[in-house]
Amino acid sequence: MASPHLPRLRVGDAFSSIEELDEVISRLEQAQNTTYWKRDARTIEAAAKRVKKPLNPALKYYQVVWACVKGGRAYKSKSTGLRPNQKTVRGDCGACIKVCASRDGQKLIVVKNDLDHNHPTTAVSTLRCNGDVVT
Ligand SMILES: [Zn+2]
Repeated sequence: MASPHLPRLRVGDAFSSIEELDEVISRLEQAQNTTYWKRDARTIEAAAKRVKKPLNPALKYYQVVWACVKGGRAYKSKSTGLRPNQKTVRGDCGACIKVCASRDGQKLIVVKNDLDHNHPTTAVSTLRCNGDVVT
């Protein structure tokens, strides 16, 4: 059932900058009509203190996990209890994409690519009367 517009993203794919990956992720978001957020991101600067090898600065991150916003766990509701009858807005969708710096520190490698959502992801275009796309 994969959409023909889904960008190719496979385990083992290598990217030479975070921009390339960000673009693929945003295309993925559009194709699946869903949103991914960087649930876990370790920057190169943080990693450089412990990793004794040159890291490509264009990678920006040593490790990144993009998770579906409808995933559970780390999703923190900003609710402060003002609406006690409302359940916490979170699901248990496990879709995520994980990338890590390659062994030589020059590329970001896709190490996990789980795009199975437990909720509908079919793109539904909504247009306002003035033609603006509702985001
Ligand atoms: Zn999801």
